[in-house]
Amino acid sequence: MTAALFLLSALVQEDLPHRVFRGEAMGSALEIQVLGPDPAVLDRAIAEARAEIDKLDRMMTDWKETGALMEVNRNAGLNPVTVPPEFLFIVKRSLQVSELTNGAFDITWAGAGRLWKWWEKDPQVPSPGEVKAALENVGWRNVLLDEKASTLFLAKPGVRIGLGAIVPGYAGDLAMRKIRTLGVKDALVNLSGDILAAGTNRGQPWKIGLEHPRRPGETFAVMPISDQAVSTSSDSKRFFVRDGKRYGHIIDPRTGYPAERCQSATVTASTLAYADALATAVFVLGPEEGMALLEKLPGVEGVIVAADGKVSVSSGLSRERLGVKP
Ligand code: AMP
Ligand code: MG
Repeated sequence: MTAALFLLSALVQEDLPHRVFRGEAMGSALEIQVLGPDPAVLDRAIAEARAEIDKLDRMMTDWKETGALMEVNRNAGLNPVTVPPEFLFIVKRSLQVSELTNGAFDITWAGAGRLWKWWEKDPQVPSPGEVKAALENVGWRNVLLDEKASTLFLAKPGVRIGLGAIVPGYAGDLAMRKIRTLGVKDALVNLSGDILAAGTNRGQPWKIGLEHPRRPGETFAVMPISDQAVSTSSDSKRFFVRDGKRYGHIIDPRTGYPAERCQSATVTASTLAYADALATAVFVLGPEEGMALLEKLPGVEGVIVAADGKVSVSSGLSRERLGVKP
């Protein structure tokens, strides 16, 4: 491209209408950015993306008493429940990720997770006996999915599922699909740390800052992405401290206790649902096993901050490019 032409295209990019939405969805922060020639299309893209996220929220979050997820949990050990196709799809994906991660990712974490009330004012640490009893109800093989009948059945009365580690990612994927269907090529959807970026930000890759899990507001790496998803799991926002010990919101399904091998785990992949689920799994597995998993999976990379603060980066990424200090 000649210098003049390059300048012209830079000018056009510079002038490209840009819409930013910042608000709330699924109980946390939502940011949508869209760029394109027609502002009316951009506004419509944001509206449709938000509607898609709200639809999944009503269907599958566990912080409201209504919706298909609650219906499934209420019928544990009793009846199979007919669920919408999106619900079936994401539970099927969840079970695949459980298999892939040796059960580190497990939507039945909720059977034990109920004991850990990190959202309360004065949360208590449950007794070892309580945790052991709750573990009886944890295990992804208790989730019986019948694709032909479009039903889900939880095998025992105490089994509960919670989809908080994958539904925000899936919602991001579906929101981006809406945006792309309207012909918008450059967009970013960020559901409190679950990020999907399409195209570019005025010709440049989208730049995603990774927040330090122990120094709020401080970025320890910057990841340039284009047509890619990035998800971070950490214990920095949802946790409580008791007798000097931190208890985070991600449960190790094998012990029933909060996972404590990582401060944060960031995963990049082609879809946000996959990145979201894997980030949670890597957080549970810890720096060694977690990194081994990332290295094994094609098209997947990541950055792990271990419990001692040590940062490790998968082989497809470069510390220097991310700006991670040695
Ligand atoms: P994320 O921020 O994606 O890691 O999701 C964390 C949320 O996932 C928690 O707040 C729980 O709702 C849920 N969760 C906790 N432990 C697990 C687990 N081992 N597998 C799947 N979901 C989990
Ligand atoms: Mg996750």
